[in-house]
Order: sequence, then C-alpha cells, then structure tokens
Amino acid sequence: MQVSLTKKKKQGADNSQKERELIIRQYRRLLRKAKPVLKPGDVRKIREAFNLALNAHQGIKRKSGEPYIIHPLSVAEITVDEIGLGATSIISAILHDVVEDTDLEVSDIRKRFGNKVAQIIDGLTKIKGDFEYGSSEQAENFRKMLLTLSEDVRVIFIKLADRLHNMRTLGSMPRDKQLKISNETMYLYAPLAHRLGLYNVKSELEDMYIKYNENDAFDLISSKLTETKEARNKFIRDFIKPIKQKLGDEEFKFKVKGRLKSIHSIYSKMKKQNVPFEEVYDLFAIRIILDVPHEQEKAACWHVYSLVTDTYQPNPDRLRDWISTPKANGYESLHATVMSSSGQWVEVQIRTERMDDVAEKGYAAHWKYKYGEQAKVTSGLDQWLDKVRDALEQNDLPALEFVDDFRANLFSDELFAFTPKGELKSLPSGATALDFAFEIHTDIGKKCIGAKANHKLVPLSYKVKNGDQIEILTSKKQKPTEDWLKFVVTSKAKSKIKQALKEGRRKLEAHGVETLTAWLKKNDKEPTNEFKTRMRAYFNARTDRDLYYKVGFGSIDKQEFKKFLVFLSRSPKSINQKIKDAKTFKNEVKKVTGKKGDMLLIGEDMSQIDYTLAKCCNPIPGDDVFGFVTINDGIKIHRTTCPNALELMSNYGYRIVKAKWTKQKELAFLAGIKVLGTDRVGMINDISEVISNDLKVNMRSITVDTEANMFEGEISVYVNDTHHLNKLIKSLTNIEGVESVTRFD
Ligand code: MN
Repeated sequence: MQVSLTKKKKQGADNSQKERELIIRQYRRLLRKAKPVLKPGDVRKIREAFNLALNAHQGIKRKSGEPYIIHPLSVAEITVDEIGLGATSIISAILHDVVEDTDLEVSDIRKRFGNKVAQIIDGLTKIKGDFEYGSSEQAENFRKMLLTLSEDVRVIFIKLADRLHNMRTLGSMPRDKQLKISNETMYLYAPLAHRLGLYNVKSELEDMYIKYNENDAFDLISSKLTETKEARNKFIRDFIKPIKQKLGDEEFKFKVKGRLKSIHSIYSKMKKQNVPFEEVYDLFAIRIILDVPHEQEKAACWHVYSLVTDTYQPNPDRLRDWISTPKANGYESLHATVMSSSGQWVEVQIRTERMDDVAEKGYAAHWKYKYGEQAKVTSGLDQWLDKVRDALEQNDLPALEFVDDFRANLFSDELFAFTPKGELKSLPSGATALDFAFEIHTDIGKKCIGAKANHKLVPLSYKVKNGDQIEILTSKKQKPTEDWLKFVVTSKAKSKIKQALKEGRRKLEAHGVETLTAWLKKNDKEPTNEFKTRMRAYFNARTDRDLYYKVGFGSIDKQEFKKFLVFLSRSPKSINQKIKDAKTFKNEVKKVTGKKGDMLLIGEDMSQIDYTLAKCCNPIPGDDVFGFVTINDGIKIHRTTCPNALELMSNYGYRIVKAKWTKQKELAFLAGIKVLGTDRVGMINDISEVISNDLKVNMRSITVDTEANMFEGEISVYVNDTHHLNKLIKSLTNIEGVESVTRFD
C-alpha cells in the first residue's frame, strides 16, 4: 500500500515535470519566433501575460491530454509567425481564453496590459460560444465578429489563428464536433482568411476541412503527392534551368521555387473536371521571386516575363497582371502560363520579395510595407474594409441573411469598371449595372432605371464587364422592387434594396392599419383576435402584418371586406385545423363541396381549407390546376403546366388532389408577360398606357432590355384571371412595333 502510493506520487511528479518542460519549450519557441518584431520591454509584458494565463489555466487539460496553456501559446505563435502581427497581438493571443475561463474581467486586463489589449480581448470574448451550425445564434455570433472589424481588425486575425490551431488539433475531438467545427470553418473562416489575403492560412483550413469531411480523398491525394514528388521535382529542375541561367546572366537577385497546389484545390479540380488525380496537370506553379528596390518592381517583373517567354511559348489568354491592378485583398503578382518542352502548360508567377510577403501573409505584411514606403497608397484591402464597416454600420437585416450576403462576397473574383468621369470602381464578378449604381451612391441605386455601358443602353440587370464605362440613368419616380434582388450580387446593393422594400412595406402596412380601423368603425366591428384570425384565413394572409399590407396595397378593398363580413355572418363555426394528409383533406373537401366529392374548388369560401398558390408557377383563375398536399404548408395549388408538376405527380401521386377554380373573387394574381419587338421612341410609354390606363391593370414591375434596335420587356402585372390576362396580351400585341407577347412563369 505504502509502496504503490509513493510510486503513484512519483509518477505524477514525473508527469508534471514533463508537462512543465513541454510548456517552457513551447514558450521559448514563441519568443524565438517573435524576436524579430519585439521592441524593448515587450518580452517583460509577454512574460507577464504568460504567467497570468499559466495560472488561469492551471490544471486544465485539452481533449488531447495536453496542458491547456499549450493552446494559447500556439495561437500566439501562429499570430506572429504565420500572420506576421506584433507584440500586442501576441499578448492578446496568450490571454484570449483567460476572461472566458476565469474570474478575471476585461477591466483587470486593461489595468495590467493597457487599453488596446483589453479591447481585443473584449472582442474575442464576445464572439465565443458553441452554436448550432447554420443557426441564427451562430450567425449572430459571426456578425458580432465582423463588427469587431470596425474596432480592431486584429481580433479577426487572432480568431483565425485560434481556429487554425483548433483545426490542427481536431483529431482528438469527438466526431460530431469535428464535423461541426470543420463545416463552420469552411463556411466562414476560410473565406475570411482568403479575403484578408492570408493565403497559407486559408489553404490549410481548407485542407483540414477535406481531411475531416472527405477523408478518403484526402488520403488518396496526399499519398499520390508523395509518390509523384521525385518526378515532379525533376520536372521543375529541368524547367527552371534555362530561366535561372538567363536571370543570372542579367544579374538579377532572385529565388525560384515550385509551389504545390493545396489538397483542397486539387480535389476541387478533380471534381469539377471529373478527372482522376493523374489528369490534373497544374499541380504546381513555378514562382520567381525577385529582390529589387521598390521603384524598379514593375519594370523588373515585366523584364523577367520577357525572359521567360523567350524560353517558353506563352498562352496569351492566361496572362494576368495583378501588379498594375492588384486584387482587392492586396495580392500583387504577374502570372503567365507557358508551354514546357514536354508539352505541358506550366503557370509561372513573377513577383518581388515584398509582393510574396503580402501574398503569403496578407494584411499584416501589407500593413508593414504600407507604413514603410507606400503610406499614401490606399489599397484594395483598405477599401474593402471600409466597405465592410459601412455595410455593418447601416445594417439591420436578420443575422442569418446578413452573413449569407456577406459570405457571398468573400470568395468572388472582382472586376473593374469606370464612372463617366473615369473613376475606378471595383465590383465582384457577376455584378450588374444596378450594383454599380449602388456602389456610387445609395440614392443613385434606388432611383436607377437603366444604364449606358460604353455609351450603349443596357438594362439594370446588365452584367458589368471588366473595363466597362458605366453611366447610370435615374428617375425620380423609380422605386426599388422585389425583382431587383434577383440580379444584384453585392451585399451593399442587397441590403439597401431590402431596407427600401421594408420601408415601403411598412408604409403600406401603416396605411392598411388606418384603413382597416376606419372600415371596422363604420361597420361597428371590434378588431378582436378571433375577427383578425378569420379575416386572415379568408384573405390568405399569413400574419396580421400581411393582412394590413394587403389592405394598404389595395389587394383587399372595401368591396372585398364587405363580402367577408357577409361570409362571417353566415358561417359562425370556428376555423378548421391544418389539414395533415390527403385523406382528411378529402373529407374536408367533401364537407365543403358536398356532392362534388374530392374536387378542390378554389376561390370560394376557402377560408376553411388551408391552401396557397404555388410560387413556382403563379397560377391565376382560369388556369388548369391541381392541389398538392404538403407536409407543413397546407395545400399548394400548381398549374398543370408547372415545371414541377411532372415530378410531383410521378413521385407523390397520392398527395395530388384535383382542383379547379370556381367563380373567383376580384382578387389580383401576379402574372409575368414578356414583350418582344422593334424598339422605337415612346415604346415603354405606349405599353404602360395600355396596361395602366386602358385595362386598369396594376403593374408591379417592368424591366426593359434594348439591344441593336430590339426591344425586350418583362412585365409583372396583377390580373384577375386568364380571361383578363388574355385581353391584356391581345391589346399589347396591337401596339405598333410589338412582335410577340407571351406569358412566362
Ligand atoms: Mn482558443
């Protein structure tokens, strides 16, 4: 007994001795890596932070069994060594889990380490927590994180370092955590790293994602890369030999290396082109890094380009000059793709030491040089950060939506276009004239009716091309519509349009409340919950606000309201519950329609059955339709010509119910019309004249595209039924110059 106890104690002492050594080693390594960036006095502060963290995490272990302190020390090391930040960030990284895990407060940190560190720690602590993937809490968390951008961008860098270390040590986590963390990483952190120019961090995060989510592919590609290493190295040696020779002759100071693609990008290529590993030809790029003074950078790179293309034939389509116009994340380089002597295309990247540093470490390196020699240059990255701050400050979208929009902008490539005065604007690729308008100014965006691209008239949805000169045309009468959201891609335009729509909707809702209150008063009715619920059911409004909106908008008018009152006085029974399956549905139908059996009649007393019109085909009275019983959403009415009809009928036949329209109420249904013809002055005017004045149809939106004398318009209108629609189509066909008028979904 005595013996074993001593033994156990001794073992414990051994372990803690080993742990102490491990911690000291890790700490020393951090100091070694940090040495080049430290100023006098920094080491003392770092040691103080280390002691504090050591104490705070005393006795706590990570899942891997390592003492917890190894984690913050590793994060600090990544911060300085791989991201290139300085002492303040190192201290913050060491302390990043302290407030979360102990009684220490941010104010204590402020007293001991100053305001900057405290602010960063505060930011890092705010964005902590464990949330469901894709949940709104998680999204809210992301938004908070992005908000810290406007305070101190270092919060995000340390967060990325934290995430990188967690991904490196993910192996000891349970499987569900591995999936959750790696998916979250792929969803937001890798794109963020990309956008901030942290190429290496981004690639490693993506590779780790593949490791945990596509393990077979990961293993396969890594082993193939090892297998082919020798052959590849020989190829690279042979390829660069003549180039090295020439560079030496011209007395350049330079480095040449073969740069391997990440596992993630190789895998993406295999999937995208559907080819095996062996057929991915551009596994690597050749990188030539020049050591030249700043003022000679561009000339030197082009000189080397000419030496390379003297040796190997270039592919002119694949020349990329990121030196004259750097990417928005700060990336600068000259890329050429040339034919090797063995007939294989090889990408050659030509850049300087400074450009290489920026390319690998991104923001921090870029900052270093900026303070040095380029203090006056506003880089694409600064502009981007300004845009993010701008978007964050003015945004009141739900977090999920915001993060989605924001994300969409992280990965896209960019293009450049000019204002008529020659000002350069950068946009994500796929951006339209409308995006460009919002880029200039929100008010210009909201009033935009079209644009001229290189002096030619183009619609709002025109996809801007690199180098276009865009002039925006505006009208005081213009207002943003729902449709605009379909063709803008920038988060700025999206959020501004959504805001405007919301405001417009709010106005109509308020107007609806007033109107409805007046109607109720006139008819001596109380707006009880019961009354409103029945009214909602009758008019197919999802919420009270929907109902107010419909009244405000005019799709429920006084006549309609009176009919509803009559209906109400005749059917005192309470509202049916939701219909859950086709069988109860049939019974419901029978109850309502009596002898007509299982035919669903739409348009009459339908408040008793929970149905809605399908968005995919927008049926209107008169169309051939059928009902489809959904799991959670009641019955959806589709046109028999709906693109989804075939699938629904073939797979879920038992959930299909016959349906037809009865004599309808004067409700308005949305329908789309496409008008084609030859363009002439006054064409749009004549069309709107026919629609609004002659036929008194409500127009929701009109988009017009004219090109080479051809006119193409897409109009959304509210009609009562097919008869009404056909009449409209006929009248439109009679307009001079119109060649065809068709309905579209
Ligand atoms: Mn951490």
